[in-house]
Amino acid sequence: MSPDVRTDLDAIPAYVPGATVPGAVKLASNETTAGPLPSVAAAIADAAAGANRYPDITSRALVKRLADFLGVEPENVTAGCGSVALCQQLVQAVCAPGDEVIYGWRSFEAYPIISRIAHAVPVQVPNRADGSLDLDAIADAVTDRTRLIFLCTPNNPTGPAVSRTDLAAFLDRVPARVTVALDEAYYEYVRSSDPVDGVAEAMTRPNVVSLRTFSKAYGLAGLRVGYMVGPAELVTSVSKMVVPFSVSSLAQAAGIACLEAGDELRARTDAVVAERTRVRDALLGMGYEVPESQANFVWLPLGERAAGFNEHCRERLVITRCFAGDGVRISVGDPEENDRLLAAAQEFVTVM
Ligand code: PMP
Repeated sequence: MSPDVRTDLDAIPAYVPGATVPGAVKLASNETTAGPLPSVAAAIADAAAGANRYPDITSRALVKRLADFLGVEPENVTAGCGSVALCQQLVQAVCAPGDEVIYGWRSFEAYPIISRIAHAVPVQVPNRADGSLDLDAIADAVTDRTRLIFLCTPNNPTGPAVSRTDLAAFLDRVPARVTVALDEAYYEYVRSSDPVDGVAEAMTRPNVVSLRTFSKAYGLAGLRVGYMVGPAELVTSVSKMVVPFSVSSLAQAAGIACLEAGDELRARTDAVVAERTRVRDALLGMGYEVPESQANFVWLPLGERAAGFNEHCRERLVITRCFAGDGVRISVGDPEENDRLLAAAQEFVTVM
């Protein structure tokens, strides 16, 4: 007989990562195609030499460097094992069993998982037809049991970002007892005329936090390091939920090195943004519907044809991320990878 486990485990969905196929172009996980910058790789190698020692449990040097970089105090920052770990810590820090966590849907697939892990109740508010978050409907969904709202901006997997003006109106409507987490995993790719700066919001509103990561624009998905910025009391509460030593010494060193390399990384994100425009325009030209994206991916709301498109691309060794019955998310790669994707997409139009 197996030992007893939680009776609600079947209700917790598994996280489905983007597939990897040897020799294929992988455009499934919103990673960067290029590896870490040489200066960052060197910092990782240096840190590896000291891997016999435990890392600094509070990532003090990284937190200090982040605070300087962002113009906040160290007490406003905490580092985590990827921003997904911080999302989970946040749910655990603010929710008691039965409390509600609201988010737009479709959005980051970890939200329902981490809510249920914490015995909280996920409340999913459908996105608008253009893939953007329905802020009015999210505010309307707040109840006495609501403790936390995730706003994923830009939204994974659909692409649109919330504007600063719309966010201000939304935040004015949300009760101060409800924490609003701005999940800005794709912040560095935003090029909108009215952009949200989650760090600025978190420094002026006592119930707002910003979650960012080194996984995407900084190209460190495999190292696992992200950070949260917010009011000191919330930061302290979230820090308490950390798995001890879960931010490795290599990850801490790499994060610091990334912050030293500002201009080089800006050039990389600019290149992705240029390719994002090229890929979206080409797909629109082929007749696909493609919501405006402020991230390093585009979304094709193909509905029932999503699985067919995904399979068609896979057969041509281009790996995209399928949300069956809903759509396909395609990460923006380098120009050659994107050309492979566009060729497959063009072919799909003709066989469709
Ligand atoms: N938030 C969003 C919206 C994401 O898409 C991701 C990664 N897919 C994360 C958070 C987590 O990123 P990481 O844990 O690698 O920092």
